[in-house]
Amino acid sequence: MRLVIVGPPGAGKGTQAELLSEALSIPHISTGDLFRANISQGTPIGVEAKKYIDAGDLVPPEITIDMVRDRVGEPDAANGFLLDGFPRSVEQAEALSTILADLGATLDSVLSIVVDEDAVVGRMLARGRADDTEEVIRNRMRVYNEETAPLLDHYADQIVEIDGMGTVDEVQQQILTKLGKA
Ligand code: ADP
Repeated sequence: MRLVIVGPPGAGKGTQAELLSEALSIPHISTGDLFRANISQGTPIGVEAKKYIDAGDLVPPEITIDMVRDRVGEPDAANGFLLDGFPRSVEQAEALSTILADLGATLDSVLSIVVDEDAVVGRMLARGRADDTEEVIRNRMRVYNEETAPLLDHYADQIVEIDGMGTVDEVQQQILTKLGKA
């Protein structure tokens, strides 16, 4: 299966994606994790991305799209993958269409995790990641609403809506059921 998981910051995408990738035996490809790995290794991508991540802004598309193209072209992703954090804009969704077309592949579903935004700010502050200060979170929410939320219309035909306000296990069960994998 080729899946995308979308949701506002703090929706629990990473947690659900990790569990789902194990359940379906497909790699979990998180652009946030890829950037953080590049930052900790001090690569040129990491040095550039850090400026944007620290401010809660999107990393420029040319960096992000090339990184995703390389990753989804790796052998372990040949039979499926779960993309988390990409696409994050309509421009990135169009780039993904091209990447998939070049691989002769198509997306199966786009999981949309629906949460109450105020409730999830508390989750993020508790997580304590470097970009989880209140001001940066507020900017990430704004960027989500402006850049990423329009994806839900873009992918209207492929959206599978998930109520993200339950426990981790409840949300995971709901995803598996809606994908017909329970
Ligand atoms: P969260 O799930 O809380 O939104 P992520 O780990 O997915 O956090 O992303 C952290 C940061 O990494 C984002 O705020 C952004 O700066 C950068 N980033 C991640 N994915 C992308 C992307 N597809 N395009 C541009 N920037 C990205």
